Amino acid sequence: MNNIKLITFDLDDTFWDIEPVIIKAEMETRHWLEEKVGIVEWGSMKDLLSIRKELIIKNPILEWDISLLRKEIYRDKLKNIITDDLEREKIVEESYKIFIDKRHDVIFYEGVFDSIKELSKHYKLGVLTNGNADIYKFEIGKFFDFSISSVDVKSNKPDEPHFSKALDNYESISYEEMLHIGDDRTNDVYGAHVLGINTLWFNRKNEDWNLEIPEPKQFCDWKNFLRLIEDEYESK
Ligand SMILES: [Mg+2]
Repeated sequence: MNNIKLITFDLDDTFWDIEPVIIKAEMETRHWLEEKVGIVEWGSMKDLLSIRKELIIKNPILEWDISLLRKEIYRDKLKNIITDDLEREKIVEESYKIFIDKRHDVIFYEGVFDSIKELSKHYKLGVLTNGNADIYKFEIGKFFDFSISSVDVKSNKPDEPHFSKALDNYESISYEEMLHIGDDRTNDVYGAHVLGINTLWFNRKNEDWNLEIPEPKQFCDWKNFLRLIEDEYESK
């Protein structure tokens, strides 16, 4: 018997490949910014990570508000270039707008749209993301009943708030009647599993399972997804 009533999804690296999108968005934003203000010392990836770390220590909110974190990084990079606070703030906001726009320039994996469309006829669907993509900016957004980001719950998966908020609108649905699907072993699979939520691991690269909890059910291609749901949850 199928007891699943609500299915939630991660976004980045589950619906689309995120790394090339972020790199391109970052490069194009930097290019725009340098056209505007001249050369900016971006530093190495290591420098960027240490700035991130320092900023998060100063303001722990940045741990889960990655949009604000990005703005803080631009502020930091521009502090010696634009001395006027108002002028700098304007450029920071414009840079962020360019970045976030390009950050949505994603290519969905083949089969995602049709799978979600079909699934939405039978289940309540939601998004649980640690990132700052907005599913409602895409046509596929119309199939989702809700979307929860880290800013909404002031926390990151694998902690409980994303998962518990998912049930807020459904008095009669429990964790056991929920299925969470994502690519990240810890944030998605472990986080959901320890709460008693059913899990599916999107394992696109056919990697090994290496956490101490039991290996979850998994799939590597969205084209096989509906069949898997049917076999695992609907034909029993
Ligand atoms: Mg992910």
